[in-house]
Amino acid sequence: MKKRVAIIGGGLSGLSTAAHLLLAAPEHYSIELFEGAPFLGGQCASWLDAKGRPVETGIHLDFPWYHNKDALFAAIGRPLPLKETDGNYYVCNGATGKIDTLLAGKSVFKTLRGLATFPGLSPRERLQLTGLIWRIMRMDDRTAESFDHLSVEEFLDTQQASPAIKHQLALEAVTIQGLRAEDASAASFIKFLRTMYGSMGKFDTTFFGAPLSDALINPLAEFIISRGGQIHLGRAAKAVTRGPAGSLHLLTSNQQVAQFDHVIFAIPGYAVPPLLPVELQAQPPFVFLTRLSETPIITITLWYEAPVFQDGNVYISQRDRTYGPIFDAVADKAHHWKDWPGLNTKGSILQVLIDAADDVAHLTDAELIDRSLQDLARFFPRCAGNKPIDATVLRLKNTYCGTRPGFWSHIPRQHHTGIAGLWLAGDYTDGVYHYGMESAVISGKAVANNILQEINHAGFEILHPDYLPFVRP
Ligand SMILES: Cc1cc2nc3c(=O)[nH]c(=O)nc-3n(C[C@H](O)[C@H](O)[C@H](O)COP(=O)(O)OP(=O)(O)OC[C@H]3O[C@@H](n4cnc5c(N)ncnc54)[C@H](O)[C@@H]3O)c2cc1C
Repeated sequence: MKKRVAIIGGGLSGLSTAAHLLLAAPEHYSIELFEGAPFLGGQCASWLDAKGRPVETGIHLDFPWYHNKDALFAAIGRPLPLKETDGNYYVCNGATGKIDTLLAGKSVFKTLRGLATFPGLSPRERLQLTGLIWRIMRMDDRTAESFDHLSVEEFLDTQQASPAIKHQLALEAVTIQGLRAEDASAASFIKFLRTMYGSMGKFDTTFFGAPLSDALINPLAEFIISRGGQIHLGRAAKAVTRGPAGSLHLLTSNQQVAQFDHVIFAIPGYAVPPLLPVELQAQPPFVFLTRLSETPIITITLWYEAPVFQDGNVYISQRDRTYGPIFDAVADKAHHWKDWPGLNTKGSILQVLIDAADDVAHLTDAELIDRSLQDLARFFPRCAGNKPIDATVLRLKNTYCGTRPGFWSHIPRQHHTGIAGLWLAGDYTDGVYHYGMESAVISGKAVANNILQEINHAGFEILHPDYLPFVRP
């Protein structure tokens, strides 16, 4: 008889768990995936709005070291529609109103040139920064995590970083960790920079050539259904309890209770404890999950009649508190989607992302749109002369577990919960620096590998970034 598996959460980690189990042993597993929202994808979702236009949670970049994600899509026969950037980062400098280019990419020489010409730093500071990056690349995980109690800002103080270096590196904290440098864990910062500067990719950073659901989510869902998996939309898990003889019972929002051999939480860590009986909430690993919390993010979509951006670059900023801009990333999705058959406009579709948004969350939608338009006009001349025909504001809920100081001592280091059949997946549990699409996919793969041991299946290899020889991963 097939083992019954319930997966709670239809984001990338839940879909990855289901797809890996069904790739390996569809004859052994009967899979039901429960998603509380009316659509799949979670933080990686896109949908059509009331006017039939594609709306996404926000800009998603795919990094060249996302090997597990690429391997999954190759395995299900649906290679990702990736569009390569030129590798550089384009930084909106609030103090000057200009866009600085930070050279980066797959070539080591270009990356070194990027450090030697790092915007906003004196030649001496660039040398200091190169030394800092070198030290970071030589740090192993243990050393990186010894700085977990510090914020990025405090860590940079220990490294005698100048105010200009600190200011420039705040870019990473805001755009990657979704937090300000004073709120973000130094360990995650170190792990990200080590991977960015210390690993070689076959291609530059990419974006997707179709909205997230078409690019990522639907192919996985179609594969799961084609192998007999069931997907229940709009059916949230309400409680997981243990029955007699260790069976697991899942209560869902339609008030039905069903029994399963395995239950996998593929939801953000902070959302797991409320679904468990009180006595379990107080036990490890669940008690640590109560200390995690989400990161506030706002995504504004601006619809234009004409093109206002020349290219598909993602323009970033460190959200300077004095000079702005209000956004930390903006890109024209119409460029990204130009080969996607569903695109039905010739104008720009600007996605304006505000990470670490707690300081602007009190603004009304109209104020957020107004501030975004003013800032766009400062950096992009065509935005000054063109008004969007429409604008939508998405205040994202249930986003990723922010990597705040102490994060690495709170998260579980294994997927097993200590309760037979009960597992943790999710982007917060795994990955090279935590949170992100690759971490979500790896977590699903790792949970599937754990479960597959019961049928003596060897599981799937977890792939690692291709680190340069002198980097200590
Ligand atoms: C705006 C934004 C931009 C991002 N940019 C990038 C990027 O550039 N690169 C990158 O790698 N990553 C990026 N990420 C992060 C990436 O999207 C996430 O790390 C990844 O999608 C998380 O997948 P997950 O399955 O672990 O969690 P989630 O996507 O959060 O999925 C969890 C799912 O569980 C559902 N759920 C919750 N509670 C219940 C319940 N009780 N019952 C049933 N279902 C439930 C939720 O509705 C959700 O669908 C970004 C995230 C956001 C929000």
